[in-house]
Amino acid sequence: MNIIVCVKQVPDTNEVKIDQKTNNLVREGVPGILNPYDQNCVELALRLREQAGGKVTVVSMGPGQAKEAVQYCLDMGADEGILLSDRAVGGSDTLATGYILSRLIGSRDYDLVMCGNEAIDGCTGQVGPIIAGNLGLKQFTYVTDAKIKDGKLLVQREVGKDLELYEASLPAVICVQKDINQPRKPVCSGREVTVINAEGLGLDADRIGNHGSPTRVVKIRMSDARVKSFFTVDDTLPWEERIRFIINGGIESKGKVDLWRGSAGELAGRIAGCPEVSRFLEDVR
Ligand SMILES: Cc1cc2nc3c(=O)[nH]c(=O)nc-3n(C[C@H](O)[C@H](O)[C@H](O)COP(=O)(O)OP(=O)(O)OC[C@H]3O[C@@H](n4cnc5c(N)ncnc54)[C@H](O)[C@@H]3O)c2cc1C
Repeated sequence: MNIIVCVKQVPDTNEVKIDQKTNNLVREGVPGILNPYDQNCVELALRLREQAGGKVTVVSMGPGQAKEAVQYCLDMGADEGILLSDRAVGGSDTLATGYILSRLIGSRDYDLVMCGNEAIDGCTGQVGPIIAGNLGLKQFTYVTDAKIKDGKLLVQREVGKDLELYEASLPAVICVQKDINQPRKPVCSGREVTVINAEGLGLDADRIGNHGSPTRVVKIRMSDARVKSFFTVDDTLPWEERIRFIINGGIESKGKVDLWRGSAGELAGRIAGCPEVSRFLEDVR
């Protein structure tokens, strides 16, 4: 099975700066990391390869610096890593990026295309669905697990409180959520990133780069960081009271919120759904 994983290098978010003139992110000289969603995505791809066999190819579009992110994936265990880096595609918005990546993917053999559900800088979550649209493939977003069974794709989606399970034929695109698995640590693989330019992809010049991007960023500004509120619990209170404060968020009445009341042992037992915990806590006391 041929799996193609799209990955993006993103600026380390603590370091994000905005160019006030162009309204673009300042990427130059800013440390880059592999988009956290893409780490989970690569891990899932490697597990699918372990299960179903085949090959994992990682593709990225970005400046030369993005090679590090692709190398990271090779060192996690991907078989091949491709970085498309070309001035002609610079300034591309999500529509153009999705188009360019779909041309790159379409030039290769693939059964499954995988993306992160979103990138932590742009956060639009549009690139995966745009790729699916361009390639005419079915797509699943908010994916928290996937397996291959009898040549079919089994997908688990988590949307709000709902868990949805699907079975689909391949090829397909899946967009994978963050923190769904523990990505393996990279170890030096000896494999090298292949850097390519846009030549040979047959790109329509009117659909790439700044010129081919309909999105206009009119104004961008950093929002004021929200002040986090903490509550402290008076440590002179008896420990049952302190636990009650912690469980109730320190507030005695929250209107419609169903507050549990009882001794700390009872509350802990109720939370764990296990009367033994309650008895244990009473014993400790
Ligand atoms: C007018 C305009 C100009 C822009 N100019 C530039 C520019 O010059 N340079 C620049 O770097 N960005 C530029 N951007 C940002 C760029 O369009 C987005 O970073 C990109 O399209 C991805 O969007 P996103 O971050 O919302 O990704 P999302 O859609 O949230 O990402 C979801 C997933 O898609 C995949 N993905 C996203 N981007 C890539 C990628 N590049 N390669 C491989 N996989 C990817 C990953 O799997 C990712 O997890 C510009 C944006 C606009 C609107």
